[in-house]
Amino acid sequence: MDLQAPFVTPDPARDPFFDGAQEETATLSFICQGCSTPIVLNVLQFVSKANSWFRALAEPERAQVIQFFGCTVGEYDRHPVVKSHDPGFPYFGVSVCRVCGTGHLLYVSFYERQYTRYIATFQGAAKVGA
Ligand SMILES: [Zn+2]
Repeated sequence: MDLQAPFVTPDPARDPFFDGAQEETATLSFICQGCSTPIVLNVLQFVSKANSWFRALAEPERAQVIQFFGCTVGEYDRHPVVKSHDPGFPYFGVSVCRVCGTGHLLYVSFYERQYTRYIATFQGAAKVGA
């Protein structure tokens, strides 16, 4: 995967962009790196797509994404588990701008902190391609 320098870099101290119970209303927004159009994504839709996108990658590409954002890999029940920079679970996915077609690799941390209290943090983003 051809990735440019990240325009959002991971920060363990970053404040969540969402903290609440209405997780279906959580949205993530960023500026397209190709044409400056604001892009707004529904977080739950992103998270559900991100999982299958990441699993479908070849192993070297998965390793590249993990390394690119500086995530560490731990182990749970003898399976490798990618760790986020904060207490959440990391989700990686690509969002393509509807206006100019520029792809963005996104890293969002998301988890249920307490019953019906969801936390989402924008931990990384980079333009895909030249
Ligand atoms: Zn664009």
